[in-house]
Amino acid sequence: MARFFKRAPSKEGAGNDTPSTPAEQAEARQATARRLERIKPDPDQIGISGAVPFVRLPAPETLFRDRAARFRALAPEHPLGGYLLFLAAIAEAQAAVQAESPGSEAGAPVSEADLALRAEHGMPALSRSVLPDESGFPACLDALLDKVDLSGAPEAARQTLAALKAAPAEDRLDLALQVFEGAFPVERMAECVFVAGALQVHLAGLAARLTPKALKPVADGVCPACGGAPTASLIVSWTPADKARYLSCSLCGTLWNHVRIRCTACGSGEDISYYGLDELSKDVQVEACGTCHSYLKHLHQHRDPALDPIADDVASYGLDLKIVEDGFRKAGLNLLFVT
Ligand SMILES: [Zn+2]
Ligand SMILES: [Zn+2]
Repeated sequence: MARFFKRAPSKEGAGNDTPSTPAEQAEARQATARRLERIKPDPDQIGISGAVPFVRLPAPETLFRDRAARFRALAPEHPLGGYLLFLAAIAEAQAAVQAESPGSEAGAPVSEADLALRAEHGMPALSRSVLPDESGFPACLDALLDKVDLSGAPEAARQTLAALKAAPAEDRLDLALQVFEGAFPVERMAECVFVAGALQVHLAGLAARLTPKALKPVADGVCPACGGAPTASLIVSWTPADKARYLSCSLCGTLWNHVRIRCTACGSGEDISYYGLDELSKDVQVEACGTCHSYLKHLHQHRDPALDPIADDVASYGLDLKIVEDGFRKAGLNLLFVT
C-alpha cells in the first residue's frame, strides 16, 4: 500500500513531536524559526551569486528524443502505461518535426533592440506574436499531426487527431494562442495535447536561438524566454555550483535558475516542505509551500540524469493525488497532462 511521507528541508526538521502546551508551542515556533534561519538560502552555496548561469536554453535536437525514450522507459507496468506510450508517440513526432526544422541558421527570433526593450520592461523575450503565419508555427502543427503514430492509441485519440486536422487554420491558431497563454478550453482538452506538442517544438526552436545573456528575470515562476509556467524544478549537477536549482519551462523547455527552498508561486521561503511517495524514486518529490498552499514537482536530476520534467511529472501522478488530498494545489503546468 502506498505510504505518503514528508521530508523536511533540513535534517533538524524531521521527526519532531507535536507540541501540546502553549509554552511548548512557543518553543517549537522559536525552534522552527531557528531552523528556518539555518536553512535560509545561502547565495554562495545555491548558485544565485552569479556563479551559475541564469538560464540554460533548450537543446531541441536532444530534448524531444530523450523525452520520448523516457516515456517509453517509464511505461511498462505503470498504472498510466497506456497514456505514457501515447505521450511517447507525441514526443517521437516532436523529435521528427524538430529534426526537419531550420535550426540555428534561421537566425535570432527577436532583434537585439527588441530583446533589450522587453527585458527592460520585465517582459519575456518571446511574445504571442511569434505564433501567427509567418512564424512557421502552423506548418509545425501540420507536420506534427502528420507524423504522430497513433496506431497503438485508443480510437478517441485518433478521432481527436482527425478533428484537429480538419479544423480551419484560424481555429487551430486561436487554440494555440489560448494554450500559449495558459488557457485551456475544457471542451477541447484532448486537442490541446497535440497543439501543445507543436508549441513546444516551435518555441524550443525559437528559444534555442536567443542570446542567454539577454534574458532577465521576469517574475517568480515565469519563464524569461517565453513567459510560460514551470512544469517542475530540477536540481542539476552541470553548473559550477553544486546542486543549483532550475525551473523547467512547460512551453519552450528553457531552464532558469531559482533560489532553493523558496516557493515558485508566492516567493515565500517560510514554510517549505518536501514530500515523497515510497512507491516512487526518492529522486522525485514535491516542494510544498505552507504559505500559499501550492506545490511543484522537485526532481533530483543530479542523482538521476534520466529524470525528465515532463515525463516524470506524468509518471509521478500518484504524488499529485496525495498532496492534493492534503489541500495543496499544483503550481506547475504540464501541457501534455493538464488535469
Ligand atoms: Zn519558456
Ligand atoms: Zn507559496
